[in-house]
Amino acid sequence: MPVIEAGTDLATFNMSTSVMAVPFGFWTPTPIAPQAALASLRELVLSRSERRVPKWKFRLASDLVLQIQPKLAHKLLHKFECRAVASAVADLTLLTSTYKERKNAPDYWYITFDLNAAEQSSWRFKPRSCQCKRDADPAGTVDLRARLVGAFDDRRFDRLRPEMMLGHHCLACGKGLTDPVSMARGIGPECWGSASADMPLLLNMLPNAEQALAGSSP
Ligand SMILES: [Zn+2]
Repeated sequence: MPVIEAGTDLATFNMSTSVMAVPFGFWTPTPIAPQAALASLRELVLSRSERRVPKWKFRLASDLVLQIQPKLAHKLLHKFECRAVASAVADLTLLTSTYKERKNAPDYWYITFDLNAAEQSSWRFKPRSCQCKRDADPAGTVDLRARLVGAFDDRRFDRLRPEMMLGHHCLACGKGLTDPVSMARGIGPECWGSASADMPLLLNMLPNAEQALAGSSP
């Protein structure tokens, strides 16, 4: 295995230090509570299209945003690809940015992970990669992982319902929507194409928020 030396390749080195800074157990999948609402939403969107699946985005705390995307699973019952970022400035821009684009961001901690279930009762949180701002405390990555596992174990996502996640009519023109990505953003393809490039929906999932989902922000 090659030894990574400082100064050989700065980009590789920076990313590797984030990965190396977490304890080995970080990568071990963690069992979590079954996510029934996510499971039925996944089945609903995949029944409409296996190729165009939405990326649902949630604010879990003022400093924490999360994306969950249902995926096709071959040997698993359920699979989701997820990413989350913790930062004082955590928002959709930071969540969807590339490593390079985050270069000038304030301190942040970033993780990509899978949620999967081989059976209805055996859900797991499985980290795939992690990163933090250079010079940020790598312990923040471990903390981010623990907060996410906690949110799933608290069954915070059980309140999700299809009508909250999938609009059946275009908000701009009222035309019926059938494609899951259009349904998730509430805007049909024609109206979307003529609007700005990005108009994401960030669902409020703050733990104590009253009527959390009613407060979805456009
Ligand atoms: Zn429309």
